[in-house]
Amino acid sequence: MTKNVLVLPGDGIGPEIAAEARKVLDVVNAQFDLGLSVDEALVGGAAIDAAGDALPAETWAKCEAADAILLGAVGGPKWDTLPPNERPEKAGLLKIRAQLDLFGNLRPAILSPQLADASSLKPEVVAGLDILIVRELTGGIYFGEPRGIRTLENGVRQGYNTYVYDEDEIRRIGRVAFEAAMKRDKRLCSVDKANVLEVTMLWREVMEELGKEYPEVELSHMYVDNAAMQLVRAPKQFDVMVTGNMFGDILSDAAAMLTGSIGMLPSASLDQNGKGMYEPCHGSAPDIAGQGIANPLAMIISAAMMLRHSLGMEDAAAKIEAAVDTVLDQGLRTGDIWSEGTQKVSTSEMGDAVVAALNA
Ligand code: NAD
Repeated sequence: MTKNVLVLPGDGIGPEIAAEARKVLDVVNAQFDLGLSVDEALVGGAAIDAAGDALPAETWAKCEAADAILLGAVGGPKWDTLPPNERPEKAGLLKIRAQLDLFGNLRPAILSPQLADASSLKPEVVAGLDILIVRELTGGIYFGEPRGIRTLENGVRQGYNTYVYDEDEIRRIGRVAFEAAMKRDKRLCSVDKANVLEVTMLWREVMEELGKEYPEVELSHMYVDNAAMQLVRAPKQFDVMVTGNMFGDILSDAAAMLTGSIGMLPSASLDQNGKGMYEPCHGSAPDIAGQGIANPLAMIISAAMMLRHSLGMEDAAAKIEAAVDTVLDQGLRTGDIWSEGTQKVSTSEMGDAVVAALNA
């Protein structure tokens, strides 16, 4: 059966890294007879320039029709003077996330042993790190009502937000996390603040209920302050972590920095049915765009994640990840991860090396 993949290269280094990911997808498509049909469309600043809209109707129609979306990055100084609602990030990327109801954010923090020196932590603490943080993306305190800044009767200004989750929202993100854990080491740590916040007392209760449906997964709970501490003390203790929007925002950035190399990190945002948009954690890197030096590996690993989580193509995903490992073993590095004694390569040379490793 044909699976439709939509590639949205976007802006800055987006088109450069998207081209490398497409090379890699073409190879596994043929090797595993995946039946992928890969299409491309404009989004972000490129779409504003061509069609006057960061998410043209034609692109949105393709997003809706696709089984999975692979996005490069959007934005850049050229469009920063536009009103906020028309900018590539809000009118392109965030609009797709909202309209497709992509509530489940998967942020792996993986540190290949070969790159352990890039971390600010001691190599033995992080070498071989492989954590997946599952963050709820469309609810919680970032969206809760009422919210605002008001002036009290005594003239003092007060800011307020509402931290709210209903059990259905908790259950659906919990399910994403349990399913992800089933594909990994089957250990899930749910992060909350159930000693203080009622909303996360409910969070914990619902996770416990869900856990009964996944007896193979070892479920544990951790308060968010302890989780932050454990992430920098002994991060390798974790397999999958699941948490709400705000805690996940903070913990996933901390976890990303454990790896020290933003050009290596993929992410996914999933809907209820597992359809998702996959993208590197980094932005469009306008400072290096057009020079052919961007690291395409986050984009290539994002493509592997897409095959695994939205398209059920585990073997092809694992083969891409193994090929990335091989090129790192060979000592090939783009400028962002280069160190003395390794070989500096361009964006396309890195993509070609992954292709060669797939064909070896
Ligand atoms: P950035 O991630 O684009 O760049 C930060 C630094 O990391 C830069 O020095 C850049 O050269 C480097 N870098 C990033 N990716 C790299 C790669 N693959 N290889 C080598 N080096 C890499 O973040 P920024 O500079 O804050 O943002 C630039 C633009 O990207 C802004 O317009 C911002 O809004 C946008 N942005 C988009 C997304 C997205 O599309 N998901 C995410 C973040 C930022």
